[in-house]
Amino acid sequence: MNLNDPTLLRTDSYINGEWVQAPQNRRFAVTNPATGKVIAEVADLDAAAVTSAIDAAVPAQAAWAARTAKDRAMVMRGWYELVLANAEDLAVILTTEMGKPIAEARGEIAYGATFIDWFAEEARRVCGDVMESPIPDKRFLTFKQPVGVFGAITPWNFPIAMITRKVSPGIAAGCACVLKPAEQTPLSALALAELAHRAGIPAGVINIVTGMDAPAIGSTMCEDDRIRKMTFTGSTEVGRILMRQSAGTLKKMSLELGGNAPLIVFDDADIDTAIAGTMASKYRNAGQTCVCANRIFVQDGIYDEFAKRLVAASDAMKVGDGMEDGVEQGPIIDRQGLDKIERHVADALDKGAELLTGGGRHDLGGTFFQPTVLSGMTPQMQMFGEETFGPVSGLFRFSTDEEVVAMANDTEFGLAAYIFTDSTTRLFRVSEALEYGMVSANTGIFSSEVGPFGGVKSSGLGREGSKYGIDEFLEIKFVCVGL
Ligand code: NAP
Repeated sequence: MNLNDPTLLRTDSYINGEWVQAPQNRRFAVTNPATGKVIAEVADLDAAAVTSAIDAAVPAQAAWAARTAKDRAMVMRGWYELVLANAEDLAVILTTEMGKPIAEARGEIAYGATFIDWFAEEARRVCGDVMESPIPDKRFLTFKQPVGVFGAITPWNFPIAMITRKVSPGIAAGCACVLKPAEQTPLSALALAELAHRAGIPAGVINIVTGMDAPAIGSTMCEDDRIRKMTFTGSTEVGRILMRQSAGTLKKMSLELGGNAPLIVFDDADIDTAIAGTMASKYRNAGQTCVCANRIFVQDGIYDEFAKRLVAASDAMKVGDGMEDGVEQGPIIDRQGLDKIERHVADALDKGAELLTGGGRHDLGGTFFQPTVLSGMTPQMQMFGEETFGPVSGLFRFSTDEEVVAMANDTEFGLAAYIFTDSTTRLFRVSEALEYGMVSANTGIFSSEVGPFGGVKSSGLGREGSKYGIDEFLEIKFVCVGL
């Protein structure tokens, strides 16, 4: 890996401001999914390390919370500046361990950094209330206070942004954290910790525990009553486990879980906008985001033209190692991911779908998959009920607004939905009828630090980013003063 600053490549865990090895220096390999080569051996810590991280976080949190919000914001601002100053190295680390094209990795660093900046500002705007008292000789007010130490578990598909989106509001509020990154992408997390250290974020406020035994690390976080909140991004299955494990200590929970996004193209849509939006939503990160379009519903009148144009756009995509110039689609993260995509395509073809382009492994070998378009999809197919997490567009034909809203909502998930239409009334009617946490109209990309991100139903609890994000890390204390 060619870095301007090779000292950003950390391979030990970061606990209480120190770089920590596992007992007997146990390590696990991190591989580059584009080449299959091992790029680093990272400390494989166990549940005992989580407990020592919590031991460090508890006093660190109290001291950090005692500082003024303005002071915390200034330190965070330093972290933000360092992330920007080292953006290119962070992008190289990210692409090498995760596979997304370098242009997308640069975008993720910029996007991830905005959460640090945004929540540094929000820290200074946390305000309690003074309420009109219903009792003449009493006064009512509220304080907003940090929840305390929180546990965070993050996925591999956004190795930087999913960390900053959780850690920034938490530390802005005066909390401290113990975070476990995904085992495929620990290097981005450790580089962020190195920059936080350089920025002067005090020892114990951010702790990163790397390790292969996610179930033991997770349950230790959930069962320790000194951890007052869990924040998780990942699969619905694991989200449910964490919620169950946290029941005994009744923690606050934020869960950003799986999606099954419908993308609806109405006859009256601008077709150029719809194609550009579909390509951006579907093929970003090789289709491996929780908000990627999973079911593409196209109305009768525009269906054939849309399918033709989507095939042309998919065929024009450059697939390859994300570090190569102009590559728009990298490899799939691992074999398991590749197998699931193949399974979904085979199931659709078995049940009568028509293959318009792609459909199999790419000539590049490894975990590369061809950009694929399937037509004639039906609700009986696996892709209707489960996210594919790959570069496969499945097209469903529909006739009426009622029909498509019913199909779009016919899923346990409710994260993001997309609609393409030139009709304002339809835009409002359909947006209101969709049972989703986020609706993106006439654009395939909507994420920003300013908009609230989160889902309903089995897609999770709580909102990240936006003016609401910091509330997830605050408790409201009511104070009644007798005069
Ligand atoms: P995953 O298996 O749930 O893994 C996510 C994280 O949970 C990883 O750090 C993983 O550790 C850890 N983990 C796994 N089993 C665990 C357990 N029993 N206890 C505690 N932690 C455990 O998810 P994934 O398949 O890697 O990620 C993709 C999923 O994330 C998709 O469903 C996607 O939709 C969702 N996602 C949601 C959002 C959102 O904001 N809603 C954003 C991005 C992704 P290891 O890596 O060590 O196994």
